[in-house]
Amino acid sequence: MSGHQEMNQVLVIDDEQDLRDGCERILKRMACKVFKASTGEDGIALFKENSISIVLCDLKMPGIDGIEVLRRLRKIDENILVIIITGFATIDTAIEAMKQGAYDFIAKPFEPDQLRIVVGRAMEKLRLRRKAKALEIERLKNLADLGTEKSRILAIIESLPNGIVVTNAKGNVVLMNPDFRKRFDILQDREPGNPIETYIQDQGLCCLIHEISKGLHVNAEKVPTYELTLPSETYLLARGQSVLAEDGECLGAVMIFTNITDLKNFDQLKSEFVAKVAHELRSPLATIHEQLAAVIEDAQGIGEDNRHLLSRAKDKTKNLISLIGNLLDLARIEAGNDYNSPKQVKVSEILDGIVEFLKTRAESKNQALSIVHENVDMPFVVADPLAIESIFGNLITNAIKYTQKNGNIAVTTAVEKGRVKVSVRDNGYGMDAQHVKMIFEKFYRVKNDKTRHIIGTGLGLSIVKGLVDAMDGEITVESEPDHGSTFTVYLPVEREKQEVSV
Ligand code: ADP
Repeated sequence: MSGHQEMNQVLVIDDEQDLRDGCERILKRMACKVFKASTGEDGIALFKENSISIVLCDLKMPGIDGIEVLRRLRKIDENILVIIITGFATIDTAIEAMKQGAYDFIAKPFEPDQLRIVVGRAMEKLRLRRKAKALEIERLKNLADLGTEKSRILAIIESLPNGIVVTNAKGNVVLMNPDFRKRFDILQDREPGNPIETYIQDQGLCCLIHEISKGLHVNAEKVPTYELTLPSETYLLARGQSVLAEDGECLGAVMIFTNITDLKNFDQLKSEFVAKVAHELRSPLATIHEQLAAVIEDAQGIGEDNRHLLSRAKDKTKNLISLIGNLLDLARIEAGNDYNSPKQVKVSEILDGIVEFLKTRAESKNQALSIVHENVDMPFVVADPLAIESIFGNLITNAIKYTQKNGNIAVTTAVEKGRVKVSVRDNGYGMDAQHVKMIFEKFYRVKNDKTRHIIGTGLGLSIVKGLVDAMDGEITVESEPDHGSTFTVYLPVEREKQEVSV
């Protein structure tokens, strides 16, 4: 508030000029602007024209008396502070005036100090009154701001093109926006408040939302995600985050659903394109490979150098053929029609065959390749035998490739918690944790002095992961540089029977 607004305007109404002038002198020194009137009528007229906040008014005056002036002034402004000036003889009337709403009174004759005290008190009251008013305005403004802010945030959430659902720590829905309702066919009049599984059918997603709501993923390196397909062939990616209070307590979860159908379709197109190109290249390359092999075998007198060049060309075509084979496998897995003839298989028996087949390769590096079955009677796994061969063929070949000469490779099968567990352990080159995180990505290869010369495509483990996932299995890796690696695969047993019994 500026100094000018703080300045009080005081009106003195008294029929005695000396008193009026005396008051004016004292009040001016108190930084007041002073108006003077000799009658009640003049005083009321001045009051109407100016914004006066304090009135000093004599009780006994010719014309209308002080009580009447007080009554009329309060009619115009009921908050006006009127100080009645009265003689000793009329003290009773002064008390009456107080009852009528006068703010204070001062008895004639008075000392300047007495006037200062009475007017000072009135000014203090005015100051507090103004302050209270300013605070009230501020409070109302803050409330209005808060209200606007709240409705603004709600409007933003409502109009987001992504689905949003918020749950409390128990996994009960507290908010859903229109996009979320639309995606999951939840009618507008269905209130939030119930557990998430009453709104969404997908069990895996509900499980994840419950976990995030309880704060189980708070320290995870990556934001938990979940992909789901809706009946309308729409692909959604759900990403979630715990909502934490200031003290770190988990209050619930916020989930955002993004439509990734276009991305999925694009990815599928890309896979189809790669598969087509790979398919077109495979036959001519196989022919070139065979012809090179024939030329090398038949050619007489072409010289050692030329023979070496042809052999290298033959090896290169072989690598290209295996790259193409890998690409086609991957395309098949990504398209969801991986090895498609599942039957009851004994993983241990298939593994015996693979180990037998790869023994020669291990022996060429003087490595010991062994297999141990911890359970004599292995349960059946329902899978395509070709997929099982591809998984463990890749893992054991890698163990041989990434282990030095004279190393050890041990394959173990067991049954653990109702799943078949197969470990492929080597004491080879191993790798850092940072690589372990990446090796299932397509084309990822660890390149260091020991592995640089080893030929590979970086696709084998993506194929392995794709196949294991498709079987609802799990793969884990433990590895230490220069000490070796252990790849462990868990496969569910007799999946078909479980499905039938549901
Ligand atoms: P490729 O062997 O064709 O390069 P993979 O996808 O099978 O491709 O493997 C990816 C990378 O993971 C390899 O390049 C290698 O660096 C690392 N790797 C795989 N298996 C092992 C292992 N048993 N020991 C050490 N490193 C391995």
